[in-house]
Formats: sequence, structure tokens, C-alpha cells
Amino acid sequence: MDFSLKYAQERDSADPLKEFRSAFHIPPHGNNGSCIYFTGNSLGLQPKKAKEYILEELEDWAALGVEGHTQARRPWMPYHENFTQTLAQLTGAKSSEVVAMGTLTANLHFLLVSFYRPSTHKRKIVCEAKAFPSDQYALKSQIAFHGGNPETDLIELHPRPGEHCLRTEDIIETLQARQDEIALVMLSGVNYYTGQLFDMAKITSAAKKLGLVVGWDIAHAMGNVPLQLHDWGVDFAAWCSYKYLNGGPGCVSGIFVHERYHKQNDLPRFAGWWGHDKENRFAMPDTFVPIASAEAWQHSNPPILGMTALLASLELFEKAGIENLRIKGLELHAYLRFVINEISQRTGVPMQIITPENEQAHGCQVSLVLPSNGKALFDAITEKGVIADWREPDVIRMAPVPLYNSFEDIYTFGHILEKAIEKTVNRHV
Ligand SMILES: *Cc1c(COP(=O)(O)O)cnc(C)c1O
Repeated sequence: MDFSLKYAQERDSADPLKEFRSAFHIPPHGNNGSCIYFTGNSLGLQPKKAKEYILEELEDWAALGVEGHTQARRPWMPYHENFTQTLAQLTGAKSSEVVAMGTLTANLHFLLVSFYRPSTHKRKIVCEAKAFPSDQYALKSQIAFHGGNPETDLIELHPRPGEHCLRTEDIIETLQARQDEIALVMLSGVNYYTGQLFDMAKITSAAKKLGLVVGWDIAHAMGNVPLQLHDWGVDFAAWCSYKYLNGGPGCVSGIFVHERYHKQNDLPRFAGWWGHDKENRFAMPDTFVPIASAEAWQHSNPPILGMTALLASLELFEKAGIENLRIKGLELHAYLRFVINEISQRTGVPMQIITPENEQAHGCQVSLVLPSNGKALFDAITEKGVIADWREPDVIRMAPVPLYNSFEDIYTFGHILEKAIEKTVNRHV
């Protein structure tokens, strides 16, 4: 690898996925062209087709009113079914195991109603220390709701002293040592802060061998890394669609429920009419009969305008293929690491990447710990058009994503970073 514009442009011209960038709106930066957008892990960019698709729904609503439920170009009643096939591909699920619905944190609560079943002794939940706060709040409030003590019933997994990421063997050891107390294991597929991709297959398998229920929050894994939730034997999972999936702000989430639960009609659940058997839903019977699929967890008729943009993005995922996206994602990640290390050496400013280097243990994201006046450096690169994500106290998260980021983006970022260091850091050392 080489830190030069020529090298980056050569990589881009050899990239088999290069044409996908033009399918997105890249936000401008002043008058100097596009910004360097590295926050597809927070809010994915807008596919150009999204507007057209949303306008079509508005037109159909104007022209058809309530008839749109059955007569719209994409009829609204079964609208969520438009997403099922691609979501199943992206999660490695059977199509009966996934559904686009709701919002992520609410979905986690609904899934926990079914899958967190504490008994007097087996009542603890295992999660990562420093999990995404919403997950932490959800888990603690579920424990409290069931009469438990959130301070003692949540087992938080901490990295070893001096380390930033969890080791698979340490996670499994905790599960084995404390299996008699544990009711549920719920981790994130990719940790939002460090960018660590967990060995979901191995951890799920170990937990299932111990008879534990396993759920994954795949908010940062979905559309980022290929998944095999069915084959891994995962019990349930949920994600959001506005990060790597580019569904737009607050876009509808999705859930996975393994088929082993689809006929367990005695599973506790908070039911709604959209989860009821489609054959006689509109006969409005008194008794709830769950659909024999993940759709049973639905509550309401789908929010069409809130989902439509996702169609435009999933078409691109379908065309590109998640396996191809993974290859380019790893290449971009590797180049970004290379450029950061190069700048660190050239400038003599230490920069520590806390995301694991092993390809099996990361997705697109690179999490970088900056030197002591890191915020000034972050502000300086932001001013030059780098859109990255600052997390207190000293971490920048950057995700070059294969659908629309380029090697040149990474080169340009490196160039901006080097200049910014000369201005902000070296002055103080
Ligand atoms: C992004 C993210 C969320 C956000 O939750 P919403 O309910 O969509 O606001 C929750 N958990 C994790 C792990 C996330 O990465």
C-alpha cells in the first residue's frame, strides 16, 4: 500500500463496486466538492432513488386514498414483505425468520418480553460493559420490570486490564462459570465504540450448548458484515436500518426470530393485530392467533413513508452482494489503518487504533484514540470536510463503507489529517 493520490485512484479504478457511489447523494463541503463521509455507521447516505420511491407513495396516496392498501403500485397492506428477501440474505436467515418493523430499542423490548424469562435463580443477563446506552437502559429496565435488581442481575463483560476489546475465550468462560445464574446473553454483533466484530458463531454455539438464550443487537453488523443467524442458531436479533442500510433517519428497524419459536404459541408476547394470522385478520376475531413466522411479533400496519427509502437502498445491496461488499469493506478498512499509521510515523504523533486488526474481528469501522488535545484535531479535520464521529473522551470513529466510500476519500482524509496535525498538535509538543 502507498499513501499517495495516484495509488488511491488506481485502487478506485480497479474497484468492481465503484459505480455504486454515484447511486448516492454525497453531501457537499463548501465549494470544494464533496465531504469525506465516514459516518455511514451512524447515518447512511441517501440513495438517489429514495426520493422517487417516496414520491410514488405520496402520489398513490393522493390518487387512491384508502384503496392504496391494496391498489398502490406497491400495495401497503403487505408492504413489509418487500423487504423480507433481502433482509433474509443480509442476516443469513430463512425468509420466515425476519421482518421489517418498529424501531430498534422498542423491538428489543418486545423481543425481551418473549425471550427474557428469569426464574428465581437463573435471572441474570450477560452484556458488554459499555454497550450502546439504549441497550443498557433496555436491559436494566427489563430486569427491574421482572422484579430483579439491575445492579446485580446485569453481568457486564469487561476487557482485560489494558485492553479495549473482549476476548472470545473470556466471554465463553464467563458463560460457563455462571451458567446457573444466567437467563439471557445479549451482545452487540459489532461493538459501536471499538468496532470489534464478535465471533458470533462461536459465542452463540457455546451459549446454546449451555442451554442459554442468545440474542444479538446487530445494529452495527447489519449491512456491514455477512451474517448467518439461522445456521449459528441465534435465538433472536434486532437491528436498525439507518446505519449501514441507508434507510434514512429513524427508518424502520427489523427483527430476526429463529424458526424454532415460530410454532410456540404459548411464548409470552405483547401482541398486535399485524401479528395475527393473515387469513382472517380482517374478520377481527377475538382470539390472537400468531402468524407462524417472525411476522407474529409485528404490532401495527407498516409505516409506508418511513420504510420506502430502505427499498432504494436494499436494491443496491442486492445488486452489489454482501460478500463483495465485505471484500471491499475490508480493503478500505486496511487502507485507512495504513494511512493512519503512516501519518502517525511521519508526524511523530502517537495514534492508537483500538479496533482489532484481525479481519475476523472487525467490520468497516476504525476507532482511533487521539493524543491529548484530540478534540482540537477533530475540529480541525471537520472544518476541512471530514465527517467523522467524536466520542468522549478521545475516540474518533470512522467507517469507510463499500457502497459509497472510495480509496481516494481515505487518501484525502490522510492528507487533511497530516496538515491538521502540523497546525494543532505539533504546536503543543
Ligand atoms: C444505533 C443503535 C441503537 C439506536 O437505537 P434506536 O432505538 O434506533 O434509536 C441502539 N443500540 C445499538 C447497539 C445501536 O448501535
